Amino acid sequence: MARFVFITGGVVSSLGKGLTAAALGALLQARGYSVRLRKLDPYLNVDPGTMSPFEHGEVYVTDDGAETDLDLGHYERFTGVAARRTDSVSSGRIYQTVLERERRGDYLGRTIQVIPHVTDQIKDFIAIGEDEVDFMLCEIGGTVGDIEGLPFFEAIRQFIQSRARGQCVLMHLTLLPYIAASGELKTKPTQHSVKELRSIGLMPDVLVCRTEHEIPERERAKIALFCNVRPEAVVPARDLGSIYEAPVAFHAAGLDQAIIDAFGISPVPRPELSPWEGVMDAIRHPDGEVQVGIVGKYTRLEDAYKSIAEALTHGGIANRVRVEAQWIDAEIFEREDPAPYLENLNAILVPGGFGERGTEGMIRAAQFARERKVPYLGICLGMQMAVIEALRNLAGLARAGSEEFDVEAGEKRYEHVVYHMKQWVSGNETVRRELEDAKGGTMRLGAYRALLRPGSRVASIYGSTEISERHRHRFEVDISYRDRLEAHGIVFSGLSPDGKLPEILEIPDHPWFIGVQFHPELQSRPLAPHPLFADFVRAAVEQSRLV
Ligand code: GLN
Repeated sequence: MARFVFITGGVVSSLGKGLTAAALGALLQARGYSVRLRKLDPYLNVDPGTMSPFEHGEVYVTDDGAETDLDLGHYERFTGVAARRTDSVSSGRIYQTVLERERRGDYLGRTIQVIPHVTDQIKDFIAIGEDEVDFMLCEIGGTVGDIEGLPFFEAIRQFIQSRARGQCVLMHLTLLPYIAASGELKTKPTQHSVKELRSIGLMPDVLVCRTEHEIPERERAKIALFCNVRPEAVVPARDLGSIYEAPVAFHAAGLDQAIIDAFGISPVPRPELSPWEGVMDAIRHPDGEVQVGIVGKYTRLEDAYKSIAEALTHGGIANRVRVEAQWIDAEIFEREDPAPYLENLNAILVPGGFGERGTEGMIRAAQFARERKVPYLGICLGMQMAVIEALRNLAGLARAGSEEFDVEAGEKRYEHVVYHMKQWVSGNETVRRELEDAKGGTMRLGAYRALLRPGSRVASIYGSTEISERHRHRFEVDISYRDRLEAHGIVFSGLSPDGKLPEILEIPDHPWFIGVQFHPELQSRPLAPHPLFADFVRAAVEQSRLV
């Protein structure tokens, strides 16, 4: 039976709850325990799949095809445990399930209420698969006091009450603001936030306090006294140079010990932190630096491409270099010559995206990379744009474009070399879709296998001819253009097992030009950098030596 750690936040949002949960997961693993992390989001969207990246940052896709919160990306990067559909839930999904059951008559005519029906649904969700791991870490999105969050907090209260003493621990994240004028760290907001928790029947066992300064012993004792926790359970969380310092830093601050003590576990194995120390060392003492330009649509908000930014960092760790990411708004290249922006880069990445805006700029970036022999990685939309570029500029198809753009514009302006996928094979099933289908959860989502051409660059990078990568797209490069692309030196070196869907393209006669229909960034981890990112950064290092 698992032990449960509930992770809540107070005072303000964006304190790094997800990261703290993920780092705690890594620390428990470092002591030999198995873990699973789970996110409960109070918002009413059924999942974040239909939210704008500007609203909610990146949508993280799991192997089993769920569109989830980006915190699940942190969880996977820190623990290496592949998240599942059942590791992310929102109020919207909970209510949807309850209401569907009500319509089916499952509640036998009773009045449906938040307590117990909604809270029961939440409790059932929390307990899914509890027998599989030693520790289940459940993070509640938002901050205590939010109206939407109340059913979740109430469900946790009931859950803790229903379990054996010592099976559940509550960890609460707060902020200690620093008042420069008086040179003081203020504990009052933390006291109020804990008071708020206690008013709904929850008693934190461990407090993690975000702070820009050392917490003086006196303040720590005060927090402990007023918030009713032990002084050792007040864990300072200082700002870090890199998020990957978190496991080692939190261990030094006593986080894992405080959690273990709160459960009353003893004796405990000592943690094996050397892999994380290795990561820290590579980040702190790189042998050089490379400049990678990311030419995309949502570059105003880095969270929109969170996993790509992290995967580039992992590629840097693999090569012991610092990767300086330059975020470039693709729309600029629709008005200006890309050369001045791209000339000084060691590599160019065009990431995923939706809609036509910015795509002409991405096409120009792909053209620049191809012609100027700069390493290029095109991800999803970035692969589709590389195909359009090549067909327009090499094969003379001036009207090559994506059906996605015409659907948006409501008129046919392009030859659809990237078309809307109406059916594809998933396992033993054929999935069918129409353009008119609802938007939520209807893309080609999750892990699909691909077969790589023996002897290709990607086969050597992966060290295998069979891979599994995560997808999230509605449109697809039309394989019937294969001959016209091959005539110009562009090959499809990865295909779906049935041979119908191009999964990877590459230009053998180029220092490094690869487009992938899937999202390799979702499977990259600091302790196991994704081979494509590791090799892309290696190519960038090589390019930097040429100039
Ligand atoms: N908009 C494109 C599609 O739906 C690309 C999606 C993506 O880049 N994730 O196919």
